[in-house]
Amino acid sequence: MESLDSITVASDELQEDRFSRLRLIGWWDQEKLAQTKVLVVGAGALGNEIVKNLALLGFRQILIVDLDNIENSNLSRSILFRSRDIGQSKAKTAAVAAQEVFEDLVAHHLQANIIHEVGLGVFGWADLILGGLDNREARLWINRSAWKMNRPWIDGAIQGIDGLARVFLPGQPPCYECTLGETDWQILAKRMSCNLLTREEMQGGRVPTTPTISSIIAGVQVQEAVKLIHGLPVLSGKAYRFEGLHHTSDVVEYTENQECLSHETFSRIVSWTKPSSTTSLDELFKFAQHQLGAEKLTLEFSRDVIHKLVCPQCGREEEIFAPVGTVSEARGRCPQDNQMREVKNVHNYSGQGPMGARTVRSLGLPAFDVFVARSMSDEIAILMEGDRGEVLGPLAQFDDATPSAIPARSPGP
Ligand SMILES: [Zn+2]
Ligand SMILES: [Zn+2]
Repeated sequence: MESLDSITVASDELQEDRFSRLRLIGWWDQEKLAQTKVLVVGAGALGNEIVKNLALLGFRQILIVDLDNIENSNLSRSILFRSRDIGQSKAKTAAVAAQEVFEDLVAHHLQANIIHEVGLGVFGWADLILGGLDNREARLWINRSAWKMNRPWIDGAIQGIDGLARVFLPGQPPCYECTLGETDWQILAKRMSCNLLTREEMQGGRVPTTPTISSIIAGVQVQEAVKLIHGLPVLSGKAYRFEGLHHTSDVVEYTENQECLSHETFSRIVSWTKPSSTTSLDELFKFAQHQLGAEKLTLEFSRDVIHKLVCPQCGREEEIFAPVGTVSEARGRCPQDNQMREVKNVHNYSGQGPMGARTVRSLGLPAFDVFVARSMSDEIAILMEGDRGEVLGPLAQFDDATPSAIPARSPGP
């Protein structure tokens, strides 16, 4: 059927299939779209338009991440949501709606905070990442994760009737972090210092946006994605900036920051095939020792987890192991004297201490995550491959064929 299409495109309108008008574009390869695994972070105004475009274009493997539930005020900017969906998960509702737009599409969702609750394996699964976010903190996390797992990501940002879209390719600075200035870091530092606040308490101000600007910017983002998988020139390390009052636009060039902390890509990823729920930290540590051929090493976590709450007044400690961002201010107070307790984080394991007997899952880290094992002379990344099915759901059934134009996968799984 494929070969017939190319002959009949111009002459035989009777044989048009769903995507035949797209194929009229000379370089178009529908199969590339069908094979591309897309991670969409954020199912708000931008995310809705991104997912809508992906479904219309015939993408077939989409994972949508969003923590929030649908509110009435989302309905003016979200084509995939209906008033009956109020109170439902944004990510799930968007996934179901995407499958209604294109029935051959498989969409799965994670109702989760991208920074604290999504394993790096999810980034590794994706061929490309599309961001529909409203804060720097999540962008920075995606940027670092995408670099580590060697994946391109396409960011969108909207405010009022203005917006911008930009493409960041791993290993090719400038990256998102390179673009951050002093004001950005001040805002970030403020948010990151509050690790005793829940996600709800962290919610920032509401950004004024319209469905028209989200349509424009998400359109550019997804079009850049299509170009990227076809090997066409994209806005790599640049931003397309649209100003809505006078309909002017320009392309902003960023410069590389030599001190940027994002420029780290895992060079070797090995898989651990047991689920993290039945793997002890010591078991993983021994596996790392074997892989590196070294006794002494440090097993680094993908992110900080809250290890203990310590009361400065009475000195009592409580061990908790919870993701940063999940402990409320009320929980943070000492039950004895109501003092606000200090948070002790932990972010690695060196083979000693009672923590080793815990399962990897009970450390407060997400499923399908990656650990980095470092010895004096070498390092490897260990992917918790055993969690794959649990996290990816129906998307886990697809094989690992990567569209050829996407930057090469890192060695390993
Ligand atoms: Zn950078
Ligand atoms: Zn106390």
